[in-house]
Amino acid sequence: MKIINEMKISFLSKSENEGFARSAVCAFAALLDPGIEDIADIRTAVSEAVTNCIVHAYRGTQGKIDITAKILEGREIYIRIKDSGCGIENVEQAMEPLFTTAPAEERSGLGFSVMESFMDKLSVKSTPGKGTTVIMRKKLENQDE
Ligand code: ATP
Ligand code: MG
Repeated sequence: MKIINEMKISFLSKSENEGFARSAVCAFAALLDPGIEDIADIRTAVSEAVTNCIVHAYRGTQGKIDITAKILEGREIYIRIKDSGCGIENVEQAMEPLFTTAPAEERSGLGFSVMESFMDKLSVKSTPGKGTTVIMRKKLENQDE
């Protein structure tokens, strides 16, 4: 993959930083002059991934969330969201629609499903006790015509 542009941000897992994170990633993606739909999809996917770090990975504590975003050849955006929180015991199960470990908190278990449907590719790697890395990719529509 040929990298055309790249950015990194790192911030604390405070709920008010969720809006900052999605705006920052969207501002970076905006360099590709994307359509409104693509930007809305990226915003929603980043929001779900960052919310998971805040509410699940660092539940009751606070830690760092690192985001790396890259613009790749062919109008593709790559977004990596990494936490060093509790990790996920069974990633396959966690990614199933409606699976949640926090049903009492009105979580619907749809975050990963949303990321999967709004982006082209989703990969989740996790080590219990060490943290979780979510990588998403999306090819953006051409805005030329
Ligand atoms: P919703 O996103 O609909 O509010 P949810 O967060 O429970 O509900 P998903 O986002 O699909 O649903 O995540 C499924 C489950 O995976 C979570 O309930 C949680 O147990 C686990 N999980 C997701 N992300 C992380 C993470 N970064 N660290 C630890 N556990 C996670
Ligand atoms: Mg979620």
